[in-house]
Amino acid sequence: MEYIYGPVASRRLGQSLGIDPLPSKTCNYQCIYCQLGKTTNFTNTRRNFFPKEEIILEIETYLSKNAHNFDYVTFVGSGEPTLYKDLKKLITTVRDNTNKPICVITNGSLLNNKEIQEALFLTDAVLPSLDAGYKKSFITINRPHPSLEFWDIVDGFKEFKNRYKGKFWIEIMLMKGINDSMNELLKIKKLLNSINPDRIDLNIPIRPPVENYVKIPRKEIINLLDDIFGGIHAINFPESGDFEYHSDDFNRELIKIIERHPLREEQIIETFKSKTLGKNEILYSLHNLESERIIEHKDYGKNRFWSLKKYKKK
Ligand code: SF4
Repeated sequence: MEYIYGPVASRRLGQSLGIDPLPSKTCNYQCIYCQLGKTTNFTNTRRNFFPKEEIILEIETYLSKNAHNFDYVTFVGSGEPTLYKDLKKLITTVRDNTNKPICVITNGSLLNNKEIQEALFLTDAVLPSLDAGYKKSFITINRPHPSLEFWDIVDGFKEFKNRYKGKFWIEIMLMKGINDSMNELLKIKKLLNSINPDRIDLNIPIRPPVENYVKIPRKEIINLLDDIFGGIHAINFPESGDFEYHSDDFNRELIKIIERHPLREEQIIETFKSKTLGKNEILYSLHNLESERIIEHKDYGKNRFWSLKKYKKK
């Protein structure tokens, strides 16, 4: 499969079947904390990066042949999914082929676009990001495409939330010395009050970020967060649970997951260990793939993460 992956364990959505309609890594942001590496296709022009017929056929085939043993179908992956022009058609195809809820994980930058609003109104959950409370901080953290304007984006959040019937959960990435001071957090909170999301999810960079200077905030910040955000739903722990795969070809299945989702080594072992594949064989395969310059590891915090070294879809 080219466009569908998983189901994978998601911190917020349970088991999530991913649909990724973009080439790696296509985005209108270049976030300093991005876990997918540098934005190599930096664009704010919406188009069908792959033929929609191909993606639709894959969705229909998968959903007709496989058990629907997931909690959500989620549009997410190698960048910003709302950049895919015919997103509405892809969402409709999923809707026509399963009763499971549909989610879009987005940076939220295009929520003021009417065509995108119409597409997202067909979903059950939209999970956008908001990491800054004012323009200068937004530019520092998200490094947006020059055609994007911070206050237009904020207006898009408000307009969309007012009309949307599904769950609207905003995620904030907190980084030490960047947006974790009282002053920065109060500015973010003020904006959130004006948007009124259904839930606020606080996140920290638990996977290796693209910029080495991005760090996890100090533990003492927890009290400050409680004071400012109250009723938050913190998600600052690594997800647990297996990732589903569809064949015995370890290399192929591993690459399909880590091209969108860098994994902890221990999670790879948990997922792929079987009667025929032990921990040592898995580690051997990882190091082989690394020596072939297909994947790479990065030690971050107390964990070793594996990600794709260089990936080009087709
Ligand atoms: S974190 Fe998301 S929005 Fe930011 S650069 Fe990476 S893919 Fe784009």
